[in-house]
Amino acid sequence: MDITNLVREALELQATHAALVDVLDLKFNEEFRTLCEKNTCGSYNKNWMCPPAVGPISILKEEIFHFKQGLLLQTVHDLKSSFDWKGMMAAGVKHTTIFRTILGSLEINYALNDNLPLNAGPCTYCAKCTFLENEPCRFPDQAMTSVEACGIDVLTLEKSCGMPYYNGKNTVSYVGLILFNVDV
Ligand code: SF4
Repeated sequence: MDITNLVREALELQATHAALVDVLDLKFNEEFRTLCEKNTCGSYNKNWMCPPAVGPISILKEEIFHFKQGLLLQTVHDLKSSFDWKGMMAAGVKHTTIFRTILGSLEINYALNDNLPLNAGPCTYCAKCTFLENEPCRFPDQAMTSVEACGIDVLTLEKSCGMPYYNGKNTVSYVGLILFNVDV
């Protein structure tokens, strides 16, 4: 398989930017967990795929290093203003739809069924995560943790791929990463 086709596929499926990454180049920062603990996104201790339920970064790293390559995806969305909270939430939903569509395409069209998708923010597959009801995850095959929860230094990763991390005034950008193994 020509692995560069995955970038083209992602762009055709509405990623604004896409790049291939080598998993060995990922940089991790344990301090990102401190940000999670401050609950700035409001999902700390509320979702199976967020800290603390998702487990420590050390365990997530073990999972990540089962894979060799990744497809880094960024979607960029216009906002009415920098205070457009509703627009940011809607953009997050749109990003996840695009992310899951690209993931589905990698599985169906490129047989990359053995993968690890890392999205942006909490898992939103269910309207209300069963974590809040003290019940097991209802759809473990669909559940996705995030690049942030794994402690991945997204800014450094974007820079190393030549991907912009700021896309202009009144925009919001979301990033996801799909890990897989391809013999090249
Ligand atoms: S699939 Fe549903 S229950 Fe499982 S982590 Fe995601 S939102 Fe929670």
